[in-house]
Amino acid sequence: MIKYVPKEFKTILNKYKFIDSWFWCRYSINPYNGCEFACTYCDSRSHKYHLQPEFDHLIYVKNNVGVMLENRLRRARTLLPDVVAIGGTCDAYQPAEKSYNNTRQCSPE
Ligand code: SF4
Repeated sequence: MIKYVPKEFKTILNKYKFIDSWFWCRYSINPYNGCEFACTYCDSRSHKYHLQPEFDHLIYVKNNVGVMLENRLRRARTLLPDVVAIGGTCDAYQPAEKSYNNTRQCSPE
C-alpha cells in the first residue's frame, strides 16, 4: 500500500555544481520524494541520493512547491538561464500528481 506524507523541504530547485553530462541540465526539480512506479532498474535508490529506503511505497509530497519555486526565482540573481530537469529522482507524473498537482505547480502558466 502506498502512503503519501506531506512534508516540508528547504528547497525545491537544486543547482548542480556541474552541468549533468547525461541530461545536459544545470538544475533539477523533484516535486516528490519517492516514486511509486517502483521500476526495478531505478537508480534513485542509490545511496548517493539519500532517499528513504521505502522509496516506492512511502512518497513524501513536498509542501508548497509552487510558492517555494516562485520565491526562489524572485531571488534569481545567481541563477543562469539553463535547462531544468523535472523529476530526476522521481517520476514527476506518478499517480500522486493526480491528487497533489505538485508538478503542475512548478510549470509555467
Ligand atoms: S524514478 Fe523513474 S525509474 Fe525510478 S521508479 Fe520512478 S519511474 Fe521508475
